[in-house]
Amino acid sequence: LSVTELVEESYKNIQKTDASIHAFLTLNKEAALEKAKALDAERGNADAALFGLPIGVKDNIVTKNLKTTAASQILANFEPLHNATVVEKINAQNGIVIGKLNMDEFAMGSSNENSSYFKTLNPWDLTRVPGGSSGGSAAAVSAGMVPYSLGSDTGGSIRQPAAFCGVVGMKPTYGRVSRFGLIAFASSLDQIGPFTRNVEDNAHLLQAISGVDVYDSTSANVDVPDFTKALTGEVKGLRVAVPKEYFGEGVSEEVKTTVKKAIAQLESLGAVVEEVSLPHSKYAVAAYYIIASSEASANLARFDGVRYGVRAAADNLIDMYKKTRSEGFGEEVKRRIMLGTFALSSGYYDAYYKKAQKVRTLIKRDFEKVFENYDVVIGPTTPTTAFKIGEKIDDPLTMYANDILTIPVNLAGVPAISVPCGLANGLPVGLQIIGKPFDEATIYRTAHAYE
Ligand code: GLN
Repeated sequence: LSVTELVEESYKNIQKTDASIHAFLTLNKEAALEKAKALDAERGNADAALFGLPIGVKDNIVTKNLKTTAASQILANFEPLHNATVVEKINAQNGIVIGKLNMDEFAMGSSNENSSYFKTLNPWDLTRVPGGSSGGSAAAVSAGMVPYSLGSDTGGSIRQPAAFCGVVGMKPTYGRVSRFGLIAFASSLDQIGPFTRNVEDNAHLLQAISGVDVYDSTSANVDVPDFTKALTGEVKGLRVAVPKEYFGEGVSEEVKTTVKKAIAQLESLGAVVEEVSLPHSKYAVAAYYIIASSEASANLARFDGVRYGVRAAADNLIDMYKKTRSEGFGEEVKRRIMLGTFALSSGYYDAYYKKAQKVRTLIKRDFEKVFENYDVVIGPTTPTTAFKIGEKIDDPLTMYANDILTIPVNLAGVPAISVPCGLANGLPVGLQIIGKPFDEATIYRTAHAYE
């Protein structure tokens, strides 16, 4: 099979399948085919890590001369002048960017219903959401349109859609992957990570996009091990912590049962499983929505009609700002900006933002304490399987509560994967495996042995 054939196959698949799934916002067909032909012509480079592989990219990751909207109207016409570091890495390793994937506007949401363009549907059941915010990235891999995709995870946006769509999604350690060129939502939480159909591919893709970057001062100067070497199939003696809070109220019985079965399977392979407590988990959602919204209110100030994207017509500068932002941002984005601006305002800062940061430290310590004695922490990725379109959209708090099991990981900065662990009522359930900082290798080893 030539690369050109593979890429053509991808587009054929997309044409057929995406008519019902709606995962892609923009296709990169001309450039992708041109690249494929060039690769076929110089087969010499076939040992590049991503040679000829079709990859979909979430639309909040900037791509040079290829429309990048973050699913917002305010960026409806935005064509970036440069590539994100992860895209440069894909190109350098001869991967092929197939197109840009739908998401919740500016990555704010858990269902893809906040995209200002259209809703992506769950390939398992078209009446259900694919999850979010990286719902397009998860659905595209799940439906077989691309083998690989990239998403971003601020509070669960890789792991939750991976769980809902039955694919593998990894949120790496904060600092593992450069965020240069990722349109910032909450800078102290955002991480880019891979979606794939199996653990081995995931390890391979993470390896290809990892590493320190001069353009991102939060990227960490630590070794990037060969993650695929960790896939030994061996978990004998692995110390597994199961937090009792992850099986509490709000987590559905069917999810609990399916995940417990998966954990029992790990035990039968020789892992040592014990129950632990992460006592501050219950404050994670509250702290997250203060911190993430505060950071978002600052990050989104740059969309003012002057520097990027769409500009509304108005008589003077202030009106132009107001009109551009009123028309350009969707409801959820406005809600976050208002919440964040309020939480940061003088007189409220100590009561909200500072308090939330203290809670964040306590959550981080919960994990540090458990990791003194255990190699991984395991539980469900989400409290339920994929919910129905429209089910939670009118009630932001219920929507936010969906992230109780993923958010603590972002607050602590640790890595975590969601790997499919079975079906409940015909819908995929995700097993979440959380690791020590920069120990994605042990997460992959565990996930692979289980898989
Ligand atoms: N659903 C969460 C939110 O709306 C997380 C989103 C994300 O991880 N980008 O903020």
